[in-house]
Amino acid sequence: MSPAPVRFHDPGSTAYDFCHSALVRCPRCDRIAHFERTARPESRVICRSCGLSRTMTGCSRPPLWLRAGTRHGELWAYNLAHLDLIRRFVAASLRERNPWYEHGRKMTCVARLPVWAKRARNRDEMLRTIDRMRASVTAG
Ligand SMILES: [Zn+2]
Repeated sequence: MSPAPVRFHDPGSTAYDFCHSALVRCPRCDRIAHFERTARPESRVICRSCGLSRTMTGCSRPPLWLRAGTRHGELWAYNLAHLDLIRRFVAASLRERNPWYEHGRKMTCVARLPVWAKRARNRDEMLRTIDRMRASVTAG
């Protein structure tokens, strides 16, 4: 008997829901820092390691912290909530979609995942990579 499928229901989050708050690499000390998009066009980088608090204008953003190369390509996430969403999607064997899914809302985070990240045969590798990315936050 096969185990019950793990269900995942795409909540329809878009990358935009996450991009106003991201974990980035501190431009000063290279450790983990927080990037907050406050009031456009201003945003701010805050680093607890070195005390950096820098206001940035325009669209510039330091490189994301949550990035990991795999044999297939790079996996990345804006923050832990985004990473968790990706993890739940990758771990799920049965993926549900809202009816409107195919009608213009194709930009949900998980729908934007590269095809190789969604393949069942890559699942274990993806989950290992995601867990490593998550661990780098507490270590960093
Ligand atoms: Zn710093």
